[in-house]
Amino acid sequence: MKNWKVQPPAALRLLFPNTRWRFNKSKKTLYLTFDDGPVEKETTWVMNLLDEYQIKASFFCVGENAHNNAHLLQELINRGHSVGNHAYNHLPAWKCSRQEYFDNIIKARPYIPGALFRPPHGQLYPWYMKELNSLFKKVVMWDVLSMDYDNRLSQQDVLQNVMRYTRNGSILLFHDSKKAWKRMHYALPSALDQLLKQGYQFKNIEMD
Ligand SMILES: [Zn+2]
Repeated sequence: MKNWKVQPPAALRLLFPNTRWRFNKSKKTLYLTFDDGPVEKETTWVMNLLDEYQIKASFFCVGENAHNNAHLLQELINRGHSVGNHAYNHLPAWKCSRQEYFDNIIKARPYIPGALFRPPHGQLYPWYMKELNSLFKKVVMWDVLSMDYDNRLSQQDVLQNVMRYTRNGSILLFHDSKKAWKRMHYALPSALDQLLKQGYQFKNIEMD
């Protein structure tokens, strides 16, 4: 049976037509994304690993982290990765007012350049899309959620989530966070090895 949490169903995607869930289905290109950084240990480790593989990725940063770790945000950009806004305090849309939600996103803007946005916890309302699309060029969701943040899953489970569901044009979601570290640092290199062997290439999502 399909795990809809790992690969969001078509019905959900149809509710949000102005968001990106997946890119070109006819090309063996993948888009690695990392949420919730930048933080010293985890983000630095991911950057070094990606350098080894010569892969560019996209990082959706929490504004507060980008504010406190401006050197890491700059380092991501220097190494050719894309960065995107993930709100200042990671506020989930369903648990705050519209005003609070957009204020929190705008508060993060001075610390995170570019035109990419990913909603915290993947939470959105269809009636927020017009305003989000006026603030950002791309609202980026995902095609494969590794679930690396879930401490009920084993390292193997997370690797299997990625390997089972990845397909042409997939946007893959990992977390450069303390919470995900144990599973992410196991699953990521192994997934990269296997996906490269399968002939996939990796690209970052354009920041403009
Ligand atoms: Zn997040």
